[in-house]
Amino acid sequence: MGKTKQAIVIVGYGGMGSYHAKLIKDNEYLEVTGTYDILEDRRKVSSEDGYPAYVSYEQVLQDAAVDVILIATPNDVHKELALQAFTAGKHVICEKPVTLSVSDFKEMVSAADAARRVLMVHQNRRWDEDFLTIKQMYNEKTIGDLFRIESRVHGANGIPGDWRHLEQYGGGMLLDWGVHLLDQILFMVDSKIVSLSSRLSFILGDEVDDGFESVLQFENGVSALIEVGTTNFITLPRWYVKGTEGTGIIEDWSLNGRVVTRNQDAVIVEPKPIQAGVGLTKTMAPPSEEATITGALPEPYRQSSSFFDNFAAVIRGEAEPIVKNEEVLRVLNLIEAVFESARTGDTLKDFDIYPA
Ligand code: NAD
Repeated sequence: MGKTKQAIVIVGYGGMGSYHAKLIKDNEYLEVTGTYDILEDRRKVSSEDGYPAYVSYEQVLQDAAVDVILIATPNDVHKELALQAFTAGKHVICEKPVTLSVSDFKEMVSAADAARRVLMVHQNRRWDEDFLTIKQMYNEKTIGDLFRIESRVHGANGIPGDWRHLEQYGGGMLLDWGVHLLDQILFMVDSKIVSLSSRLSFILGDEVDDGFESVLQFENGVSALIEVGTTNFITLPRWYVKGTEGTGIIEDWSLNGRVVTRNQDAVIVEPKPIQAGVGLTKTMAPPSEEATITGALPEPYRQSSSFFDNFAAVIRGEAEPIVKNEEVLRVLNLIEAVFESARTGDTLKDFDIYPA
């Protein structure tokens, strides 16, 4: 009887590599059969965790029993490891950012195509429930047409770890959390970007950004603010969205939040002025209780399958990838534009992140 599970070797058994081993542990179609890390310490941890460690990457590539290489190393070596994997006839799951430039990614895709192997990027935050809740609101118009989407992640611990502080490894927060948030917004809003304005922050004095802000204007009227901060001792909500019929908020990863919509049946009464600072205002007075309806967040949009089940179905030739390489290319194009806008201080217009 043939083997029932595809054998995966995790390359880079650090924070994310070891997390992958846990994620794949009970998968019906995939099995982690080993790991490889350049550090002996990490190879030892892997063996202790029950995953035999190869002593060189060549050894992994030469092992005919290995079907898939999962790359979870620092960002600068993803491309080289992937190219070698394709030459050896292996499929590749690659951590985000898949690589550091559009041209490098095109090389990776060409190599995968030439070897007739699958390359799929681990954009796992397409499965986050907070994001899928906003996607549901966007698709189903729970608060009318969304015209403003603010997506933020805030921390106060600075840039984590070692290599993320350095440009040569592809460090910085735009290439870290930024990749996820930009991927989410492009996965949700299917419209051309007509303008982009971005700023990187260097508050901690690192050579790479410790956070950034981007404002994207889409052709369909949606404007999106994407913000990553690592020096925020008070955090703003994860999501704040405005629609033509109401406002929605998701405070945190636990999905605390609410939607407030206009009560169509309410008799409109002129708001009473309130004291605001040293002045009076009617404009900024809260709406009367009857004028609005406060409700729970909708159930999140459902993805058709998990990342790993989808990957396994793709290599069996039974499904389309949920994370498509043309979408990954768009995100990389957008990231290059974000760097450009931040470097020049310009608002970019008339640029195209959508490949022909
Ligand atoms: P890490 O520093 O914890 O682990 C990286 C490991 O790779 C280390 O053990 C290091 O020794 C090893 N390594 C370095 N060069 C290598 C090489 N040439 N061959 C084999 N091993 C090598 O880093 P991390 O936080 O686990 O990040 C790894 C990757 O995972 C990055 O691309 C990062 O962006 C990504 N990541 C993704 C998510 C997500 O949610 N998708 C979360 C965290 C990290």
